[in-house]
Amino acid sequence: MLTRRGFGAITFGHVIVSATEPSNTVWRHELRHVAQYERLGLAFLPLYLWYRARYGYVDHPLERDASEDPRLFP
Ligand SMILES: [Zn+2]
Repeated sequence: MLTRRGFGAITFGHVIVSATEPSNTVWRHELRHVAQYERLGLAFLPLYLWYRARYGYVDHPLERDASEDPRLFP
């Protein structure tokens, strides 16, 4: 299901689901989503979906934060 939806891995709270063994880069990315979830709590999912609808994937602020510096929050 993940690969059909265009995802290699996805994070739900503290649970990371991956279609294959994650690379170190994917682990770091998904663990950053865990940190975002810890910071944003239940607001994470609606905020994530709203950003996705508004910015798409590449310009998604939470995706950019998970993939590069500077971070949205420490
Ligand atoms: Zn991501």
